[in-house]
Amino acid sequence: MEKNHPKNCLNCKSENLYGNVTRAGGLFGPSLLPRLGLFGNNASMHVFVCEDCGHIQFFADKRSRSKLAKKWARAWLPFRTT
Ligand SMILES: [Zn+2]
Repeated sequence: MEKNHPKNCLNCKSENLYGNVTRAGGLFGPSLLPRLGLFGNNASMHVFVCEDCGHIQFFADKRSRSKLAKKWARAWLPFRTT
């Protein structure tokens, strides 16, 4: 759990949030955090689900965020492609 993780649901304000860590890319789906993993592995992210309304929130983990400035473009610039 990181300091910036939510304590309430953004949708319904419930405190019944549950969190876990998962990989940011699956074998058959797109990578949600491309180029931020370690040695070719997928990056990790934290996922939170609201028990009351089902709203889902994702957060890139600290290691992935530390690579953003070198690996991704700022949001207002054209995207880099791999
Ligand atoms: Zn909710």
